Parts: sequence; C-alpha cells; structure tokens
Amino acid sequence: MISFNNVHKAYGDHEVLKGINAEVGKGQVVCLIGPSGSGKSTLLRCVNGLEEYQKGDILIDNDRVDAEAKSIHSLRTRVSMVFQRFNLFPHMTALENVMEGPVHVLKENKASARKHAEELLTRVGLSEKMDFYPSALSGGQQQRVAIARALAMKPEAILFDEPTSALDPEMVGEVLQVMRSLAEEHMTMIVVTHEIQFAREVADSVLFLDGGKIVEQGQAREVLTNPQHERTQDFLRRVT
Ligand code: ATP
Ligand code: MG
Repeated sequence: MISFNNVHKAYGDHEVLKGINAEVGKGQVVCLIGPSGSGKSTLLRCVNGLEEYQKGDILIDNDRVDAEAKSIHSLRTRVSMVFQRFNLFPHMTALENVMEGPVHVLKENKASARKHAEELLTRVGLSEKMDFYPSALSGGQQQRVAIARALAMKPEAILFDEPTSALDPEMVGEVLQVMRSLAEEHMTMIVVTHEIQFAREVADSVLFLDGGKIVEQGQAREVLTNPQHERTQDFLRRVT
C-alpha cells in the first residue's frame, strides 16, 4: 500500500535519508525504530508530503507522493498523521476538533460529521469528554482525541510519530490500547516508537533506521528478539 523505492532526502547538503527501500502492506502495522536524528520523522513527513524528497519514489497505492504537485492535497487526506504533541485546536472542544477536518476539508455536512465524531470519540473511550476543551483533558485523553481526529478523515493509513513519548507514564497504556485496537481492525499504520514491547506484540514488521539508512528490517519478533546487526543490537540494549 505504501512503497518506498530508493528514497533520498537532504536538507541543503546534509543528507538525511540515503536510499530507503521498504514496503508497507495494506492492513499492516510497521514500527519504525532508531536513534535520535536517524531520519524517522523526516521519513514520515515525506509520506504525507510535509517534506519534499529529491530522489526515488514514495507510492501510496500507485500514486506518487510529490509535495510540489497539486494532487498533494488530496493525497494528504488519504494518510493521517498523529504527532508527539497532540496539536489539537485549543479553542475547540474535543468534538469540534474531530469534526473540523470532515466539515472543512472533506465538506461533509455538519450533522453527519457530528455523528461520526461522536462514534469515534466513544470508540477511543471519551464519550464523557466530548464537550471538553483540550486544556481540561489529560495528555492521554488529548492524544486519544488526536487519534479520533485522524480517523475522522477516513484515512487509508495513519502515521504516528512517537505518539506516547510526551505522555506521563500512567497514560501511555491507554493510548497504546487504542492503537492496538486499530491494528486489530487492520488499519494500515506506520508507527515511530520507542515502545519496544508494543512493537513486539502489535507490529507485523520493524524497520531499524540508523544514519538515514534502513540497517535491518523484518518480522517484528525476529528483529526485536534476534537482531542480526550490531547496531540494532546496541540500540535495543539501550532502549530496553
Ligand atoms: P528523533 O528521534 O530525535 O525524533 P528522528 O529520527 O525523527 O529523531 P529527524 O527529525 O528525521 O530524526 O531528523 C533527521 C536529521 O535531519 C537530523 O540530523 C536533523 O537535524 C535533520 N533535520 C530535521 N529537520 C530538519 C530541517 N527542517 N532542516 C534541517 N535539518 C533538519
Ligand atoms: Mg522524530
């Protein structure tokens, strides 16, 4: 569903992605792990056209992601992104945050957008909090609103960039639980995370990125329990 073919990306003359090749199948969960600065966020940002890349192809189904092209707006609605910091609109309630994209971008009518938003907030366990503003929600609750908001766009895939790393430890579990249930429903997801236990249990495959290259990729259990490369072994020793 998402293919990376020899993707290169540089900021000026600083090469950040150095020939990425990978495949994310429909309904698959792929966890992207690697040290700080290895290019994980950059890779995600290239997928939904927030960043340009200079060489190679990123394909969503058979459509090439091209940040410059006019088609990028429609492509971007096909892939949602959830960030480390929840990026909710502070002046809107949880419900309004979730309705915003469908009403303003997808041009859904308000009544059906509201109904869908209510269903999604219920699904992430927030039926009691729909009319709360972000400032009155915990970090874990805000992140679950952000996931409901991503789902409201009816995306073909969701990209998560360290969705739990800004949370207090006691809130990590509730967010991972929502992600786990999305995985069970076969949502296609690329998840940048340091939650190795989650990756081991939920991911179909793992990509280990280091210095802008995929050093190791394969079945999650294989890579995480029996890494072949020394750099993967070192990294896993440090984060687990
Ligand atoms: P972290 O785990 O800390 O989030 P990461 O793997 O997500 O790291 P990226 O944010 O993708 O890493 O950054 C990869 C490299 O690209 C880093 O060297 C970073 O300094 C550089 N970089 C990222 N964004 C920019 C930018 N807008 N301009 C210039 N360089 C950038
Ligand atoms: Mg990052």
